[in-house]
Amino acid sequence: MTSGTCIYRFTRDLRIEDHAGLAQAAAHGDVLPVFIVDRALEARLAHAPRRAAYLCAALDALDRALRERGSHLLVRRGAPGAVLKHLARACAARGVAWSASYDAAGAHADERLRSELEEAGLRALVVHDAPAIAPEESAAARPSGGNGYRAFAPYFEVWRTLAVPTYDAPLLVRFAASDLQSEPLPQPNEFGAPDRACDAGPSAARAALAHFLQGAALQYAAGANVPSDDGTSHLSAHLSFGAISARGAVRATLERIEDPFLLSEERASLRRYLRSLAMRDFFLQLGYFHPESGEQALQEKMRAFPFSRTHAALDAWRAGQTGFPLVDAGIRQLRETGWMHPQVRAIAASFLCFDLGVDWRVGRDEWDRYLIEDDPALASGNWQWIAGVGADLVQYPRIFNPEKQRRRIDPSGLYVKRYVHELAHVPVAAWNGLRAHDAQLSLALFATESYPQPVVDHDAVARAFLARYRAFVAG
Ligand SMILES: Cc1cc2nc3c(=O)[nH]c(=O)nc-3n(C[C@H](O)[C@H](O)[C@H](O)COP(=O)(O)OP(=O)(O)OC[C@H]3O[C@@H](n4cnc5c(N)ncnc54)[C@H](O)[C@@H]3O)c2cc1C
Repeated sequence: MTSGTCIYRFTRDLRIEDHAGLAQAAAHGDVLPVFIVDRALEARLAHAPRRAAYLCAALDALDRALRERGSHLLVRRGAPGAVLKHLARACAARGVAWSASYDAAGAHADERLRSELEEAGLRALVVHDAPAIAPEESAAARPSGGNGYRAFAPYFEVWRTLAVPTYDAPLLVRFAASDLQSEPLPQPNEFGAPDRACDAGPSAARAALAHFLQGAALQYAAGANVPSDDGTSHLSAHLSFGAISARGAVRATLERIEDPFLLSEERASLRRYLRSLAMRDFFLQLGYFHPESGEQALQEKMRAFPFSRTHAALDAWRAGQTGFPLVDAGIRQLRETGWMHPQVRAIAASFLCFDLGVDWRVGRDEWDRYLIEDDPALASGNWQWIAGVGADLVQYPRIFNPEKQRRRIDPSGLYVKRYVHELAHVPVAAWNGLRAHDAQLSLALFATESYPQPVVDHDAVARAFLARYRAFVAG
């Protein structure tokens, strides 16, 4: 394509800094920035109001950044193919660029759009912007070749050796002069979300990362395991909407590691944080090379495992009323704030899959209604990993004892008390040894408070699950 106009369709990449997609579009002409609200997005936002609020605020910030550059965001509502073809005719554009999706639905939509545009004689450029290292790049470095990585350890060995590219020259992007009028920016109330202020967009994301790297990142190796300390970066929503590039987060962490005035434990913590960022890239490449893993287990042998779709205590799990304080605190944190501490996610997810024997997709879809993060590939990858049916981090069920875990990561009960108000005035010592049929405990804890009895006897159901699992694997 020679110089002219290239449409850039923003999706989950709502910034103009360090932008692989914009850089690619700018190499093909002046850039016309577009955002399309289609049926799929409308439905996705209508079922997750907090996510809708974040997206609307981030679009507002993007529009302001574009206006500072003499342009504006051109919003359209409709089917992407038809909208883009229409716009291409209106501004004589010869191509459309956008950033790749990593989940099955998004990847299919990308492919459909690509062929629709190409049939109309337009060039379609699908660019890797979301990961720090593009899937093809890590796959090319794989000694045995093949379709990317299914195990994190060898992936990380390669990932850490690859240079993270930069596209940090927004001034090189020239935006097209156009008199096309935009439809109004989407507003939270269109999707049933309250119109309230929301910390979204690039400046909120940069501030969160800078604050984290100056403080909690230096204790991340230990602090990330303590939910009451809030020792993680809270970058996931920002990364999922592309308010900050993963490349930028990796580079800033590498720069921090170079600080000569760090203790070696602090440097080790920063390396641990890099490993978390690499895990994001790992799950994105897994979704990219194995789109079928969005809806079925990556491990073929586990596809027929008889997880149930329901359980008498499923609604109690959904509502954070299982009688297991750590599980309930996590689920209530999610429903109250749109985010759950990562360690607690693992324990609450394990409880659903193993204590209740319920399918990982039921849990994933339930949390999707509350999470601000919009990263389906990470959701499926992590749920499958916990259920022991996905990536080969470890190939067995990760059964956590929710009470032992609570005593390990929240011994003072600070985290639980923050979200499980019924327990705020019950001494933590009374929680120890929580059992469904412990009469004395029932008197001490449950009789006078409204907190529910444990819905299962963890030891019994975990052993029963393992017996079913062993029989299935052997058969
Ligand atoms: C059962 C389960 C479900 C999850 N569902 C989602 C989801 O729907 N969407 C989502 O974005 N994340 C999901 N995660 C991963 C992780 O828990 C969240 O990204 C979490 O919000 C990270 O919080 P943070 O940004 O403070 O993390 P930090 O610990 O500060 O990590 C920094 C960044 O590294 C990445 N990262 C860290 N851990 C993981 C991981 N296990 N997998 C992939 N990337 C990781 C994230 O981008 C994160 O923002 C899930 C994890 C589990 C165990």
